[in-house]
Amino acid sequence: MNNAYFDFAEPKNEPVLSYAPGSAERKALMAALAELKSQKRDIPMYIDGEEVRGDKKAEIRPPHETGHLLGYYYPSSDEHVHNAIDAALNARESWAATSWEHRASIFMKAAELLATKYRYRMNAATMLGQSKNAFQAEIDSACELIDFLRFNVHFLSQIYKQQPLSPQGMDNRMEYRPLEGFVLAVTPFNFTAIGGNLPTAPAMCGNVVVWKPANTQIYSASVFMEILIEAGLPNGVINLIYPSGPVVGEICYAHPYFAGVHFTGSTGVFQSMWKSIGNNISRYKSYPRIVGETGGKDFVFVHPTASVDAVVAGLARGAFEYQGQKCSAASRAYLPANLADEIKKKLVAELATMKMGIVDDFTNFINAVIDEKAFNSIEAYIKNVADSNGAAKILCGGKCDKSKGYFIEPTVIETTDPSYVTMCEEIFGPVLTIYNYETDNWIQELEVLDNTSPYALTGAIFARDRNAIEFMTKALVNSAGNFYINDKPTGAVVGQQPFGGARASGTNDKAGSVLNLYRWLSPRTIKETYVSPENYRYPFHQAD
Ligand code: NAD
Repeated sequence: MNNAYFDFAEPKNEPVLSYAPGSAERKALMAALAELKSQKRDIPMYIDGEEVRGDKKAEIRPPHETGHLLGYYYPSSDEHVHNAIDAALNARESWAATSWEHRASIFMKAAELLATKYRYRMNAATMLGQSKNAFQAEIDSACELIDFLRFNVHFLSQIYKQQPLSPQGMDNRMEYRPLEGFVLAVTPFNFTAIGGNLPTAPAMCGNVVVWKPANTQIYSASVFMEILIEAGLPNGVINLIYPSGPVVGEICYAHPYFAGVHFTGSTGVFQSMWKSIGNNISRYKSYPRIVGETGGKDFVFVHPTASVDAVVAGLARGAFEYQGQKCSAASRAYLPANLADEIKKKLVAELATMKMGIVDDFTNFINAVIDEKAFNSIEAYIKNVADSNGAAKILCGGKCDKSKGYFIEPTVIETTDPSYVTMCEEIFGPVLTIYNYETDNWIQELEVLDNTSPYALTGAIFARDRNAIEFMTKALVNSAGNFYINDKPTGAVVGQQPFGGARASGTNDKAGSVLNLYRWLSPRTIKETYVSPENYRYPFHQAD
């Protein structure tokens, strides 16, 4: 019997544990790291609730310790992609018919399992597989993922309550149906939480999903899948597979029941997806929803009245935490001449204190970049500085070493050219470029900043002068989807700073907010008239 309206109250953000020396959580996390390192995990695909293993095996190694083998996964073939789509479509009817309170409870239970029983295993998997330190793993794979699950359940129960007006004589109502087909979730390497959110947000709305994570995030993605299964997710609702990007795309975009893609990753990949979907548009049963959060070239603009220490802390954390591999990471800074020398001196001194190394040593602040491809690409940007004809120089860092893991020192480039390549292109590594401007020119420099890159994801301004803060906030209205005043441009929290950018940075559907969930719903409006008219005539066309 279902005769009540079920509501899920607004949750509180999951508290962030400190992992300070002597704390219980530090001990538990170290034990989880040791346990995972002692195993060679054999990671299957999950299709229709079954563990599936293909013919080929691929190795998983920590980016910071490439001599160590963590385990294996099984790259998916075309057949696995087709099977995953079929499994999703077979599960569709019964999942869409499952009552809201039971659907919601599965995700609330997953959040609870993650907050308790599996917190350390999940964080340890993220640390080892993606080379994050304990704190970066805690805010990602524990807190943010728990928040995504709990807040989305709450937001969806708010949506379901929204109903149209019903004047006397009729009843108008709105049903929030899932989409007619399957959703493809394609997720990036850098956040376990995004990996978990992209398939679960549509699934929560009653959709069925094919989930393809980045190969470099499979290690932690599989732990989350185990949690979803333990939480009671029915077979086929989310199918986790490991094909190459182009293969999954080619098969999914050609399918008549392709209903949408939930993507986070680079701008180039998203644009190629959109083109393929456009080319196939006449094949589909319905217009697919295309949701993508993509790259950034995030700025810090320092006004002549800024606090030097606040800027230095904002740059040190904003540009270098998780080795700059956050879409929101500060990667270009504009410094006024009156403060530039002091900021640079203090920043260089701070960066010299950041220890770099493996994740199991908690005194390391910096770990490795994700893989050899990323290492080579970041190294090339650093090496090219030598060929810049004096337009740029390395202020600190710059050393790259891949002998034991993919280590790149926190690097600051200083340029005299505001359109130097590292001021414009996304590098996705621990590289910050600084441009110094004439103190009196701060208003003109805002225009330079706004026109320098195609992206508009995050950005921060630092100032004490309130009039300047208001002026900059207005002048930079289109340059960032997440705009920070006197704070670093990273670290958005679910429910507090809904996240996403515009221009080339994505469709700005704000993951982890109510706006994102609307994209996975196809409302049906129902009007019932209690006493129906019995002839077609109106008064206006009657003769006088
Ligand atoms: P990526 O674009 O290389 O990969 C993302 C996903 O797309 C992976 O699963 C990958 O296998 C898949 N893929 C690659 N080629 C594909 C193709 N042709 N068709 C379909 N799928 C394909 O990105 P990444 O290196 O994993 O992540 C880093 C990028 O993600 C950066 O550009 C970063 O700015 C962006 N990012 C954005 C946000 C945001 O919220 N805006 C958040 C995190 C990361």
